[in-house]
Amino acid sequence: PGPQLPHDPTKKTLVILGSGWGATSLLNSLDTEEYNVFVISPRNYFLFTPLLPSVATGTLSPRSIIQPTRYMTRHKKRQVSVIEASATDVDPHTQTVTFKDMSEVQGLTSTTTMKYDYLVYAVGAETQTFNIPGVRENACFMKELDDAEKMQRRFLDCLESAAFPGQSKAEVDRLLHMVVVGGGPTGVELSGELHDFLEDDLRSWYPELADSIRITLVEALPSVLPMFSKQLIDYTESTFKAAKIDIMTKTMVKEIKENSVVLQMPDRSIAEVPCGMVVWAAGNTLRQVTRDLMAKLPEEQTNRRGITVDESLRMKGARGVFAIGDCTATSYAPTAQVAAQEGAYLARVFRQLARRDALAAQLAEVHGLPDDDPEKKVKVEHLESQVAKVDKIRPFKYSHQGSLAYIGSEKAIADLPFFSSGNVATAGVATYLFWRSAYLSKLFSLRNRALVATDWIKVKIFGRDVSRE
Ligand code: FAD
Ligand code: NAD
Repeated sequence: PGPQLPHDPTKKTLVILGSGWGATSLLNSLDTEEYNVFVISPRNYFLFTPLLPSVATGTLSPRSIIQPTRYMTRHKKRQVSVIEASATDVDPHTQTVTFKDMSEVQGLTSTTTMKYDYLVYAVGAETQTFNIPGVRENACFMKELDDAEKMQRRFLDCLESAAFPGQSKAEVDRLLHMVVVGGGPTGVELSGELHDFLEDDLRSWYPELADSIRITLVEALPSVLPMFSKQLIDYTESTFKAAKIDIMTKTMVKEIKENSVVLQMPDRSIAEVPCGMVVWAAGNTLRQVTRDLMAKLPEEQTNRRGITVDESLRMKGARGVFAIGDCTATSYAPTAQVAAQEGAYLARVFRQLARRDALAAQLAEVHGLPDDDPEKKVKVEHLESQVAKVDKIRPFKYSHQGSLAYIGSEKAIADLPFFSSGNVATAGVATYLFWRSAYLSKLFSLRNRALVATDWIKVKIFGRDVSRE
């Protein structure tokens, strides 16, 4: 056997699946003294997703927006076991989780099953492809760090190939046409960042190509950013127009080929448009492991959008399982803001559960006293009233802090709640500075804040790096 993990048989085992927004926020506030805590995730780090498009265009370096999970757990009062592995099966009936080590070093994968008392299910979601042909094979995604790095390589590859001597005009135009699919915040922010790259750097590094680069944003619905107010949608559309980013609404991608994208136009005609790169940002779908888990509880888990939870985020039908973030189907949007608040809420729930469990253990002890013990009745009554007090968990309540998105050209848009009188919509350069400071303050560690701020300064002084790794 390998190194033994600290295990206290008097404490309950809490397994956290994932190291994203929900899980990290929980870990941040969790009192680890009360439990044997295990974190299982195929990524041994937290990824700050809001700045991922900035990595794709080389504004930020990949390491600036990730934080190793162990950085956080090493400061905890009691050791937390971080295991780099992917959960392949959760059995809510036996209260076990099976996980697989995907290590490339060993060349073989090993699988283990572990029992839990409590499970926090925070595995997020994956990119929705709707099984559209060619998406997986020919498009770049924008969900994980690898995706951003792959997109950056592809983009620079297109530029270098276009710069190769003797290319035909048609081929240069194809290579320099970048198509972004999905007019949600991911697609919009990425289009804005691509435009910045073009304006700030490519004009100096590739002056002969700069005017041939085209960015097209394709959206199936009648407008981009449906979650923002009409005023901000109009502002984004006019900013994109000025930046020469073409927005094609009511247009659906039907297929992605190696060198082109097939579109169904608003009049339902089909058009094949040549392009050098397609970025697919068409939303989320459930992971297979989540679908499998839900299938084990067919009576309670019937929502195809995700896991159904009660008002305390307990998965319906599964004892001891809590689910948070993008894998759940709630009335909230699948955002980092929601997942982070849910994680912080669960840290408070676990503090309460630890108190309840300790009282329940004391109660069991008192119940074991002989019946003629004169103090037994009083003690039982006292403990029962204490247990009843901590047994009631206050429901989760989401507090919306507003929506923010960067749209390029040093402009951002924000829909901010304003007391009870509704929202304030702001846009422009000042909002961009607010966007920067808000994201800087949301980064979990001082180390990441320093790295991101340094990257921004570096790019301002030296420009983005166009070397292709
Ligand atoms: P995630 O953060 O995705 O974390 C899931 C975790 O589970 C990961 O660590 C993953 O490795 C792990 N995992 C996966 N499979 C398994 C498995 N089988 N077993 C164990 N672990 C597993 N939201 C905002 O509010 N504001 C923004 O500005 C914003 N910008 C975004 C920009 C981009 C480019 C993207 C892609 C998303 C953005 N979001 C934003 C949405 C936000 O990132 C998600 O809503 C948030 O990540 C959800 O948190 P989560 O904990 O549910 O999932
Ligand atoms: P999304 O689901 O918000 O948007 C995807 C878009 O792709 C949809 O508008 C959909 O109509 C379109 N689409 C799907 N299939 C298509 C096709 N075949 N052809 C053309 N268009 C197609 O996805 P997202 O932007 O990745 O966002 C996911 C979640 O993360 C959302 O909840 C979002 O609010 C959140 N997020 C927030 C921010 C922010 O606040 N700044 C940034 C990124 C993501």
